[in-house]
Amino acid sequence: MSIKNYDVIIIGAGFAGVTAARELSQKGYQTLVLEARDRLGGRTWVDKQLGRNLEMGGTWVHWFQPHIWAEISRYGLEVVPSPDPEKAYWVADGKRHEGTVEELFGMLDEANNQLLADARKYFPLPYEPLTSKKLNEVDHLTVSDKIDSLGLNDNIKELMHSMWALNFNGPTERAGLTQAMRWAALSDYNWQLMMEICASYKIEKGTGALIEGIMNDAKADVFYSEEVSLVEKTASGFVVSTKGGGQFIGRTVINTLPLNVLNSIEYRPALSPVKFAAAEEGQTSRGIKFWARVKNITTPFIAFAPEDYPINYIQLEYTDDQDGILVGFGPDASKLDPTNKLEVERALRRVIPDIHVVESIGHDWVGDPLSGETWPMQCNNQLTNYLSELQKPKDGLFLAGSDYADGWAGFIDGAIESAFKVSRKVEQYLEEKVRERAVI
Ligand SMILES: Cc1cc2nc3c(=O)[nH]c(=O)nc-3n(C[C@H](O)[C@H](O)[C@H](O)COP(=O)(O)OP(=O)(O)OC[C@H]3O[C@@H](n4cnc5c(N)ncnc54)[C@H](O)[C@@H]3O)c2cc1C
Repeated sequence: MSIKNYDVIIIGAGFAGVTAARELSQKGYQTLVLEARDRLGGRTWVDKQLGRNLEMGGTWVHWFQPHIWAEISRYGLEVVPSPDPEKAYWVADGKRHEGTVEELFGMLDEANNQLLADARKYFPLPYEPLTSKKLNEVDHLTVSDKIDSLGLNDNIKELMHSMWALNFNGPTERAGLTQAMRWAALSDYNWQLMMEICASYKIEKGTGALIEGIMNDAKADVFYSEEVSLVEKTASGFVVSTKGGGQFIGRTVINTLPLNVLNSIEYRPALSPVKFAAAEEGQTSRGIKFWARVKNITTPFIAFAPEDYPINYIQLEYTDDQDGILVGFGPDASKLDPTNKLEVERALRRVIPDIHVVESIGHDWVGDPLSGETWPMQCNNQLTNYLSELQKPKDGLFLAGSDYADGWAGFIDGAIESAFKVSRKVEQYLEEKVRERAVI
């Protein structure tokens, strides 16, 4: 039996892989997607839990995210708002405080304006993050360094660490200040708008409806439960081998693995030393997202807790009769098992003392060997040391995904943006090869 020879083999069926499959297959390129899981979506996944369809990974979208917004329009989907919080809780200086969201954000306003004051200077074009020649002045700084340099009082300082540990889903002492500035630049340099963009609107029918829409428009072969183990360059393209013994031949490869697991595949020849080092170092996010059904809490609220707590952010997302369904995050996945309701209850009670958890769930994306991280967020020095090299293809091998995006890197929008850009480069590469053959 002859083996099919593809123009493009795409590794991974998350938003980047599926978008690239649609773009290239619609242009007539023979396209194959190899996905290790038994489903589409990668770090987005809607699961029926706690009596609802819940987003276990990527969730919120916004019209300030142009690539995903265009897809939402294209597939006729709608968004729904998360509840408007009527109350805010925060823990600072070992004490629990209660007030309004305006009060909480008011306390953080001046500090965030100072933290992000130079965002326009370093990121005048938010979708071209390497434009400024002066990035070396600032890329070595962490968010923690910067917060600690602002001369804030202890309460505000603690709250700032809490808020930015939420945004990075990891420790602020590894969080790159330039990454924080990139988010602000994409949000018209306005941190409150940035917070709105990150967690206010969800796709009504779920992220699954969007990725299925994109996949339905792709004319690609998709093989599930095929975990790629080896990508080997040959004279005419690549042989891609999977753990189950499959072998696939393609003229180009688009690899959409998250940065923290990029080195889980063997490459012959090896990835460039810079790409290898970027993946070995890994980016910041190492936290956890959880969902919990709780008794007798139905007023929408948000809550912040210190960076070293197992849970440092909570919001009420849904109500069912007298039960509330909470969603929240912690910056260190090793500190919270989201499926252990007693552990979740204990952690929640440090913020909301009398809370009673009925059931809790979540997925450990950091421990998951197919992701190794939650939403990608660069550490200090990683923008200038790695991004340009990670975006550089090598002899027909391309990286695409949220981890390698120019704009909303870390979001579904970034995955789609990166897929668009890489698909264009793949097309140019294949056309170039055709021209070379014609000349010979
Ligand atoms: C908890 C959490 C919350 C988030 N919240 C938001 C949010 O609210 N809004 C937002 O926009 N974004 C959010 N994100 C981020 C967003 O989900 C991701 O940035 C985006 O989905 C990444 O898409 P991708 O295609 O680049 O990567 P992935 O979705 O990770 O796709 C990569 C694919 O490669 C597959 N794969 C891995 N190894 C192999 C292998 N060896 N062989 C074959 N296949 C392999 C994986 O199974 C996966 O399907 C969140 C992410 C998490 C985890």
